[in-house]
Amino acid sequence: MTELREKAPTVGLVSLGCPKALVDSEQIVSKLRAEGYQLVPSYEDADLVVVNTCGFIDSAKAESLETIGEALAENGKVLVTGCMGAKPEEISAIHPKVLGITGPHQSDAVLASVHQHLPRPHDPRIDLVPPGGLKLTPEHYAYLKISEGCNHKCSFCIIPDMRGKLRSRPLGMVMREAEQLVERGVSELLVISQDTSAYGVDLKYQKDFWAGREWETRIHDLARALGQLDAWVRLHYVYPYPHVDSLIPLMNEGLILPYLDIPFQHGSQKVLKAMRRPAAAENTLDRVQAWRKECPQLVIRSTFIVGFPGETEDDFEELLDWLREARLDRVGCFQYSPVEGARANALPDPVPEAIKEERWHRFMQVQAEISAERLKGRIGGQEPVVVDRLEGTTAIARSYGDAPEIDGNVIVENAGDAEVGEFLDVEITGTDEYDLFARRLG
Ligand code: SF4
Repeated sequence: MTELREKAPTVGLVSLGCPKALVDSEQIVSKLRAEGYQLVPSYEDADLVVVNTCGFIDSAKAESLETIGEALAENGKVLVTGCMGAKPEEISAIHPKVLGITGPHQSDAVLASVHQHLPRPHDPRIDLVPPGGLKLTPEHYAYLKISEGCNHKCSFCIIPDMRGKLRSRPLGMVMREAEQLVERGVSELLVISQDTSAYGVDLKYQKDFWAGREWETRIHDLARALGQLDAWVRLHYVYPYPHVDSLIPLMNEGLILPYLDIPFQHGSQKVLKAMRRPAAAENTLDRVQAWRKECPQLVIRSTFIVGFPGETEDDFEELLDWLREARLDRVGCFQYSPVEGARANALPDPVPEAIKEERWHRFMQVQAEISAERLKGRIGGQEPVVVDRLEGTTAIARSYGDAPEIDGNVIVENAGDAEVGEFLDVEITGTDEYDLFARRLG
C-alpha cells in the first residue's frame, strides 16, 4: 500500500482568476484524482505543476506570468491552461520552457498533456473504472464523481487505506460540473463514488446553493437536483441503507433512472459480517422486494464474491437461495483472491481454488437463468434507448437498464440514419442471454 502511495505521480495546481476558472480547476483536479494522481500543495512535492491562468485584465495577466515563472523556477515541469492559454504565443514568448499550453474549459486537453509528461498510474484493484473510462468516451455520457475515499473497512478492500476517509464534494460543486457536462452535450450522467449512499455524511449534510435554492449535500437532494437537468441520471455503488428507500419515488417521478448498482457481495449474514460490509445487518431481500413493489420497472445490478475465507457449502447455498429470491437483473461474480494489505488475508479457512471455481460456475448458472427471465419480461415493452455506436443501419444502443461497459446492449436493426448519442423510441422484440433486440418505432 505504502509502496503504491509513494509511486503515485504527484501534481500541484495553482488556480488563478474567477469562479469559472475555479470550476475548470475543480474539473482538472477531480479528473486527476479519479485517475490516481496525487495532488500536492507545494512545488517541491510535485512531479509536475499545472497553472490555471487568468487573462482578464493586465494585472491578472502579469500575475499569471509571474506565477508561471515562479513554478518554472521552483519546479521546472509546468503546464499552463486557462484564459491566458487562448493566446499561447504571449506565454511562450516569455516562458519558452513551459511544456504545454491549453485554453480555458479544456480539462480533457490538460489531462492529455499531463498524461504525456507524467504517465497516469493504473491500479485495477482501486480504479472505479478502467483507464480512459472516466473521460467522456463516447461524448454522450460522463462519469460524475461525487466523493472520494470511504469510511468503511471491508476486510477484502484496501481503498480506505489508500484513498483515505470519505470526502464528499459539496452539492453545488457537483451540480456545476453536471451542468457543464450537459451543456457540452452529455445526455447521461453516471454517478460514481466508493459509497454513493454515504454522500455528504462527512460534511454533516451541509447546506449549499444551486439554481437559486438551498439543498443539503446528501444523496436524496443530489439525485433530485440532478433530475432537473436534461440527462439520464444513473446511480452506481449504492449500499442498501434504509435512506435509499427515499430514492425510489424519484425514479417514479422520472428524475433518475429506475436503476441501482448495489454491490451486495454475498447473501449470507455470516459471510457479510466477515467481509465487514456496510449495511450487512439490513434485510436486503425485504428491501429489494419493497423497492420492486413501489417501482416495478427497477433494474438492479450487483457484484458478488464467492470463495471468501470461511465460506462453507451452507453459506454458499444461502447465497444461491438469496439470489433466487432477489431475482436481480444483472450480476457479476468474482472468485475471492487476496489483495496485498487486506485484513481478509489473515482470516482462517481459505477456500481451495477448485471449490471457488466450482461455486463460481454454479452461481453463474443460477444467475444466467434469472437474468434471462428478467430480460424476457421486457419483450413487448416500448422504451427509449440511447445509441452508443452504429454498425451500418444497426444501432448498438442501451436502455435505462444498461450501464455502459458493464451491462448489455439493445440491438436496433432498423436504426436508419440514427446518430451516436441520439435517443430512439423502440419496441423490445427479443433477447439473448445478455442483450435485448428491438425495432425502432415511428
Ligand atoms: S465500501 Fe468497502 S469495498 Fe467499498 S471502498 Fe469502502 S471499504 Fe472498500
